[in-house]
Amino acid sequence: MKNPKKILIANRGVIAIRALRAAKELGYQVASVYSTIDKDQKHLKLSDEAICIGPAEAKDSYLNEAAIIAAAELVGADAIYPGYGFLAENPSFAEKCNQSGFKFVGPDSEVIEIMGDKIRAKELIESLGVPVVPGYTGDIKDQEHIEGIVEEIGYPVIVKASAGGGGKGMRVVQNEAELWDSVVSAQNEAKFAFGNGEVFIEKYLKKPRHIEVQVFGDGKGKVVHLYSRDCSLQRRYQKIVEEAPAKNLPEDKLSNIQDICVKACSELKYEGAGTLEFLYENNEFYFIEMNTRIQVEHTVTEMITGVDLVQAQLSLALEGKFELDQEKLRINGHAMQCRINAEDPETFIPSPGKITTVHRPGGYHVRFESQIYSGYKVPSNYDSLIAEVIVKDNDRENTINKMRMALTELVIEGIKTNQPLHLKILDDDGFKNVDYYIKYLEEELIK
Ligand code: ADP
Repeated sequence: MKNPKKILIANRGVIAIRALRAAKELGYQVASVYSTIDKDQKHLKLSDEAICIGPAEAKDSYLNEAAIIAAAELVGADAIYPGYGFLAENPSFAEKCNQSGFKFVGPDSEVIEIMGDKIRAKELIESLGVPVVPGYTGDIKDQEHIEGIVEEIGYPVIVKASAGGGGKGMRVVQNEAELWDSVVSAQNEAKFAFGNGEVFIEKYLKKPRHIEVQVFGDGKGKVVHLYSRDCSLQRRYQKIVEEAPAKNLPEDKLSNIQDICVKACSELKYEGAGTLEFLYENNEFYFIEMNTRIQVEHTVTEMITGVDLVQAQLSLALEGKFELDQEKLRINGHAMQCRINAEDPETFIPSPGKITTVHRPGGYHVRFESQIYSGYKVPSNYDSLIAEVIVKDNDRENTINKMRMALTELVIEGIKTNQPLHLKILDDDGFKNVDYYIKYLEEELIK
């Protein structure tokens, strides 16, 4: 019998244990990497091998490309699973993995590169028939030139860094007096933060919702969509609550957008899991960006479609298997995810430290994705996401009730978490009525 193939998980935390479970369930061997401060991560105990790749600081460990490739070599990995964050959308890392003989679980490095450049991504996606936010992606010559262009787009506008990410490098401009300074400072900030000072301009939508479409492709032109998600509940551009499918939208328009996404990704010969993100306002969808990786909120899509997206990624990357059929993909019920962050629910200051007690919620269609356990120490070095509570029920109202029960059952002691904030959201009328927008949480719920 052939030895099972081996996957190296190049990540930590919630996505690392998620990927470990998926890989083990498929019968693969798993090797994991970790930084010194992460030596007690739960997934390491369940991995066949664990390799230390450096100190706590991410740039010396989880972002250390050479150390990860060396670990893959050492264990004889067949593939490298990047998860989300860290090197997941780094085209040169994807290329290095593939060139070194370790299949990068994700799309082609060229597609990652294009989508990581928002100007190129927007132009390409628009050329493939997807509606985008009106704006300007051309060269910015001088003050007079750009003032003329924005006059036509109409204020307010948002100046964005082409290489930006994580909500960084964006500036909202209300009038002409603010425009030039904002452009210049955004260019400087982008150059400093991303090594690329290119910026572009978009009409600033005042109260949009964030709606996204999950796609999955075989890399040869066959692509399916797995319906929509609503991720409008955000703070500082970070998603807090996610749902699938998105509700209170014109069904025909949403269905059309999903089909357009499939067509565009088919032209790109997109491989694996990806998400096209849209803002939705006044009955229209506007593309903002594409994420060429698995996302934190993939779980809600799994709950309503019954597709294990991480297993699908691994089977495609390692066996060339693609078993998704649009005709058979159906929405079953409504799913919701609350991101549990180690932070003060009122000040949002991170709350690292030792978790003394954990009681996980349970029950029918209640899912808890997390690496935490009683005695686990949340390090201060990384993202504050420590768990995801995911539930599904037959409709949105019952899903909210089930989530309230699950969150009431969940106990995490020793550190502060945003659990109370979630309970407040669930009881809010605007939330219950799907009457919200991307700044709703900040402007109306936690003023
Ligand atoms: P990033 O890659 O940094 O996440 P995005 O382009 O996805 O950048 O934008 C992040 C968030 O910023 C969006 O989810 C939305 O909340 C807000 N945003 C982006 N573009 C606009 C716009 N044109 N009008 C209003 N808000 C926007």
